[in-house]
Amino acid sequence: MSDVSPVIVGAGPAGVRAAAILVEAGLRPVVLDEGFRAGGQIYRQPPVDDGRGYRARYGSEASRARSVHETFDGLSGAIDYRPETLVWNVSRQGGNRLDVLSAGAHYQLAFTHLLLTTGATDRVLPFSGWTKPGVYTLGAAQTALKAQGCTVGQRVVFMGSGPLLYLVAWQYLKAGAKVVAVLDTAPLSSKLHLAHLALHAPRVVALGASYGLRLLLAGVSIQYGIRPERVEGDARVEGLHYRQGSKRRSIACDALAYGFSLRPETQLADLAGCGFQFDARDRAWLPVADVSGRTDQPGIYVAGDGAGIAGADAAEIRGQLSAMALLDDIGRPVDAENKRRLLRALERIQTQRNLLERAFPFPADWFEHVEPDVTLCRCEEIRLRDAQEAITSGRASEVNRLKALTRVGMGRCQGRMCSPAATELLSAMRKNSPATVGRLRAQAPVKPIPLGFKMEREDAP
Ligand SMILES: Cc1cc2nc3c(=O)[nH]c(=O)nc-3n(C[C@H](O)[C@H](O)[C@H](O)COP(=O)(O)OP(=O)(O)OC[C@H]3O[C@@H](n4cnc5c(N)ncnc54)[C@H](O)[C@@H]3O)c2cc1C
Repeated sequence: MSDVSPVIVGAGPAGVRAAAILVEAGLRPVVLDEGFRAGGQIYRQPPVDDGRGYRARYGSEASRARSVHETFDGLSGAIDYRPETLVWNVSRQGGNRLDVLSAGAHYQLAFTHLLLTTGATDRVLPFSGWTKPGVYTLGAAQTALKAQGCTVGQRVVFMGSGPLLYLVAWQYLKAGAKVVAVLDTAPLSSKLHLAHLALHAPRVVALGASYGLRLLLAGVSIQYGIRPERVEGDARVEGLHYRQGSKRRSIACDALAYGFSLRPETQLADLAGCGFQFDARDRAWLPVADVSGRTDQPGIYVAGDGAGIAGADAAEIRGQLSAMALLDDIGRPVDAENKRRLLRALERIQTQRNLLERAFPFPADWFEHVEPDVTLCRCEEIRLRDAQEAITSGRASEVNRLKALTRVGMGRCQGRMCSPAATELLSAMRKNSPATVGRLRAQAPVKPIPLGFKMEREDAP
């Protein structure tokens, strides 16, 4: 029996491809995922089959989705797959252990090697009315469509910056919803970068352009360089007021989906003791890792969007590379030619990603336009004003200090939703890069768990 007990957290494209490489090498990884079924965010499957085919659910990504799902199904019996299983802590004192919640039971799982492929979530910023019923993240709006086969409203406005903005708006249009408008916070001039990207990735640009064109042909208003002012409506969304340059405008809708690219899920790497470094492109702190995802902690690997936002194709490659790094570290042979091929493909994708991000810039001036009464941290109901006062007084020059003084990031989401906003606010007020205001340290549990549990069993893979 092997004395190597690898555990993979996340059954998205990165986790699935990592598992396949380990199985090929004769290992039997445990694969944990809090979702019902494998596929991760992009290739999310409904909890039960709803009769829609791959083309209907995944559009242009249908064949990749099928390949990831079939690969995972093919691993059945060769891996220990545990769906609906949340990993909420990593402890390394007195042996490597994960704290896990599954079907209401808590247990600890020992590991020798840990591959973290935990993906990303939406990045949101606060503005007046963002917590009202009917306001969703772009990812949540898409999840409703993919997993539940429903839309978040009848007349939906999409707002923000990032490739998902146009993709989800197009998916809603295709599903029969009325897309009222696409309000891009980036200026039209930023889209000139797409011409440069077209030289490297013509398919990506053609696909994006086709979404924009089909939205325009369907009569959807696409506007650039906007900033939201407030959501209209009491019980739920009835419209959005926004500015475009010096002009004030409003638009009626019954739902708003918004977001600003993605935020890597890095808390477990933090709890595992990994070092972090600031990444200017993602405007986020990422685990220190080599190109194969090998972190500065022996036996801990990161891959996919949780190691830095690079998209689903890169996630598949990085999943394989991280598994190869593990094999290398335990003295097992790896296919050197395949590894070289993967590294070359990854380099190409990273070049494309750098260009893509320039076409969808982050609205760095966001807080110049937000009222002090707006909720900054919805878990703890902290207003922007409270944080601004702590920063102006000079007592909070760093984000963990801001948390201690105001409770921003101390609630149920553990800062997963509000920490990008708190960091951006702090750096904007200090007129400095977000790299200079620190990183909100992860705390267990990384996601909400019931109080008063007891560890039911000790489980070693
Ligand atoms: C909401 C959303 C929608 C997206 N839609 C698209 C799209 O339509 N097109 C596109 O090109 N890109 C999309 N992206 C980006 C794309 O999903 C990613 O690039 C790709 O899925 C990354 O793959 P991954 O394997 O790194 O992570 P993911 O696919 O995100 O998979 C991570 C997995 O880890 C699991 N997980 C995370 N934390 C834990 C934990 N603590 N315990 C147990 N399990 C855990 C999650 O349940 C998930 O299944 C989307 C991203 C998001 C966040």
